[in-house]
Amino acid sequence: MTDEEVPVLIVGGSLVGLTTAMLLGHHGVPSLAVERHAGTAIHPRAGHFQLRTMELLRQLGLEERVRAKSLETYSATGGIIAVESLAGRELATYVKELNEGVEGFSPTLRVFINQDVLEPLLQDRALELGATVRTRTNAIAIDQDADGVTVTLRDLDSGDESEVRARYVVAADGNRSPMRTRLGIGMRGYGELSRSITIYFRADCADLLRDRNQGVFYVHNPELRGFFRLDRTGGNGFLVINTVGEDVTQDSAVDVQAGLTEERALGFLRTAIGTDMPMEVVDIAPWRAEANCAERLQAGRVFLAGDAAHVVPPNGGFGGNTGVQDAHNLAWKLAAVVNGDAGPGLLDTYETERLPLCELTVRQAYTRYATRVVPERGTEDAEPPVPDIELEIGLVMRSPVILSEDRDNGMLHLPPPALDGRPGTRAPHVWLADDRSTLDLFGSGFVVLRPAGPDVDDWAPPGATAHVVDAEPFADTYGLAAGGATLVRPDGVVAWRACGPAGRDEIARALATARALNPEL
Ligand SMILES: Cc1cc2nc3c(=O)[nH]c(=O)nc-3n(C[C@H](O)[C@H](O)[C@H](O)COP(=O)(O)OP(=O)(O)OC[C@H]3O[C@@H](n4cnc5c(N)ncnc54)[C@H](O)[C@@H]3O)c2cc1C
Repeated sequence: MTDEEVPVLIVGGSLVGLTTAMLLGHHGVPSLAVERHAGTAIHPRAGHFQLRTMELLRQLGLEERVRAKSLETYSATGGIIAVESLAGRELATYVKELNEGVEGFSPTLRVFINQDVLEPLLQDRALELGATVRTRTNAIAIDQDADGVTVTLRDLDSGDESEVRARYVVAADGNRSPMRTRLGIGMRGYGELSRSITIYFRADCADLLRDRNQGVFYVHNPELRGFFRLDRTGGNGFLVINTVGEDVTQDSAVDVQAGLTEERALGFLRTAIGTDMPMEVVDIAPWRAEANCAERLQAGRVFLAGDAAHVVPPNGGFGGNTGVQDAHNLAWKLAAVVNGDAGPGLLDTYETERLPLCELTVRQAYTRYATRVVPERGTEDAEPPVPDIELEIGLVMRSPVILSEDRDNGMLHLPPPALDGRPGTRAPHVWLADDRSTLDLFGSGFVVLRPAGPDVDDWAPPGATAHVVDAEPFADTYGLAAGGATLVRPDGVVAWRACGPAGRDEIARALATARALNPEL
């Protein structure tokens, strides 16, 4: 006999677990997120949040709160440069300004915000939307059958154990993912790249920043390689160190953790700052830079999301953002199945759609690590870099619930100008007459959009909301001629479109396919 029943249990109450809980609540499904720590993240870790993540937070009413919090810590216009040390020479500019080149493609902007500041906002919103978050609770066993999953929880204060029965489980339990291990799912990729450390510190670097209020400073000198993130005062921040010593081809160079003491850490900090000054080490976190992806994202009724599904080095800022996209893809599908609005086959499309994109992201994060941090260790196995924006808003998904067009060329990513509303891509942003974006129409259910025209009504089949859009570039941007229609999923992905006139039955059939209600799915 189990002690408790929930539609969805989430193991892990950090960035991805909380995002999943928030999204499930938004779709009307209560969930229980269990977290073994006493609260949300204590370390800043993720800092660079991409357009697609911000678009999602906008749909959940969090965009302004997140932006205001970001500005307390970072400049809105920081970039990413490489220096010898903060006091030394500038070596390269990787990103001139965080939002350079994104204008017109999105109603929102990228931000720098620390994960320990973001997570409480996500948690508050998840709770507002009906989720339960239970801290100091460890998920210690899992067992599933045809009807559900039983998870054993241990209260870390009392030691008491209890059983929860859930229809589905999301394992958002991080890169070591005990759930993934229990399910026997392996990882594949580039393996361990370095035994890195992060030094959290206080030191007054304001004068060294001068007018360079950057989001990230890569540091490259004969003693170490890594990067700084400093708040806008220049007084607080962290230094990541990926390698030590001049000859980074030696394996000892990528083991920064070996022989580490606080004194040695202070020495690294002094070198990276480039001048002596009073400095205080607040904490030192050891971690492994890896670039690996899970072999599968699903085992029966259990789904892997976030670092449990893919681990990447921080270069490029993909780790947390990719996990947020996992949650975005998965949550509406779980909600639709739990609410009886979709066939169970819809859940299988999570892996079909996400796995190739997660693998792409792992390869691209590896490319950024290999070329920016340790080019001397060889870059032959690094694929050519894909521009960040294509990985943020230009990804292409394929699955049986996406009705691809004949001209699909199999590409996994496209530049924004080529994003013409084709099925499997994020429905493009167009400003509407009331200053909302087309993206503001998405997020809650299926949406049918049609360009305004003389013979167009706003008809949509049951289960979808219809909008006739008369904004000037809409028809062109969405690749629709008069009478055409596009069907957009709750995660803002185009499921189907008819470029030319589309009738009632055609739209209804597309919707049934997108909800996996066709008998063959
Ligand atoms: C230095 C650094 C910089 C980074 N910068 C960026 C960046 O700029 N942008 C970006 O997108 N990403 C960045 N990342 C990566 C980002 O921090 C991670 O991808 C992100 O934290 C993953 O979130 P998650 O929720 O999947 O996993 P985690 O944050 O690891 O959370 C997993 C949670 O599950 C809990 N848990 C595990 N097992 C159990 C269990 N059995 N029962 C209960 N709870 C359990 C853990 O306690 C933990 O809280 C960075 C990482 C580092 C180290």
